Amino acid sequence: MTPATATAAIPFFRSPVRDDPEMLAHMTRACADVLRSGVYVLGPQVHAFEASLSAMHDGREVVAVNSGSDALCLALAALGVGTLGGGGADDEVILPAYTFVACAEAVLAAGARPVFVDCAASGFLPSLEAHHAARGERTRAVLAVGLFGDASALPALAAYCRQQGLWLVEDIAQCFGASSTATDGTTRLAGTWGDAAAMSFYPTKTLGAAGDAGALAFADARHARQARLLRNHGHEGNEHLCLGRNSRMDELQAALLHLALAAFPQALARRREIAARYLAAWTALPGLTLPHDHAGHAWNYFVVTLGARAQRDALADALAREGVATRVYYPAPLQHHRALAPLHDGRALPRSEHLAQCSLALPLYPALNDDDINRIIDVLPVALGHATRAAATPAGAAP
Ligand SMILES: *Cc1c(COP(=O)(O)O)cnc(C)c1O
Repeated sequence: MTPATATAAIPFFRSPVRDDPEMLAHMTRACADVLRSGVYVLGPQVHAFEASLSAMHDGREVVAVNSGSDALCLALAALGVGTLGGGGADDEVILPAYTFVACAEAVLAAGARPVFVDCAASGFLPSLEAHHAARGERTRAVLAVGLFGDASALPALAAYCRQQGLWLVEDIAQCFGASSTATDGTTRLAGTWGDAAAMSFYPTKTLGAAGDAGALAFADARHARQARLLRNHGHEGNEHLCLGRNSRMDELQAALLHLALAAFPQALARRREIAARYLAAWTALPGLTLPHDHAGHAWNYFVVTLGARAQRDALADALAREGVATRVYYPAPLQHHRALAPLHDGRALPRSEHLAQCSLALPLYPALNDDDINRIIDVLPVALGHATRAAATPAGAAP
């Protein structure tokens, strides 16, 4: 046991605004302006934020909504996949088994059927081959998740979907701002490869709101128009042209997000700098697999993998004792969720099961200061040593 020190604990996440008085002052003023304006939903702040997001994403038409979860569902509906958007109840959407539960919920909420694919032998993303093996007669779309900030699978999936006549929906909740390069050398931002992209601005994402918010980007303006209808009860002019829902973005969130977007390049650069420091510091630690680096990674989360669940849990405990908070993304693959298991086709998905048991997310966010980073870098190997010994000691035996 290390003796207690006076060093403050490092939380898993901290808002960048708390430590930035200048940004806090700008945001406070922006809030006051919105409050005084009396316009609180889908007004000028939302339109201005949509325009900036559109400019960032190759001029794709952007539709601001109230969460990333609704963005995913409305992306599918706007493309006509599933009953909500006028498609069939047996429309299938291929998605990773190892991702946030919102991805499967969105497919079901759109009135379509989720088909889970396993992760590749290395890394956190499913391979092209796995997608192809899951493709059937009723497959309509691929939901590609840029898990943890890794957008590297998007170019090949975009080419595959084009060739197969499938829609590609990018879930860029965790890889907003990431870029990737196709085999022909083209480099593009996540959100501009597929037919639709869903963004989340939940506070811990790479662009975080002070609450819930999300957005969509579309290659085809007709799909954007459909999404605009769906987010607001089918309302256009004086009519309700279709049934939709309430997925509108608030003016307050739009105003705050617009300010955060202006500071986003520095925030992303800081994430990349921290990841590079971790990767350089922890090469060749026995029993620890580091996340793959690739040009353009957005490093929303820095997720390491241990050899077995006991080691992962022991590492989390050892880091907690040193005051470093961690999280498990995700403790169960989707096919193991009580509500989703009955929908699974029974295909074996061993990599997703393994990763759910063995992966651990370490703190990585722009508000980490250099002292925090140095401490995390120093503490990890020590904690890993404790964890390896603890996991090797049978329960009840003397250490
Ligand atoms: C956060 C997240 C979502 C959902 O976004 P919300 O804004 O929380 O609804 C969807 N997919 C992934 C991969 C996410 O990380």
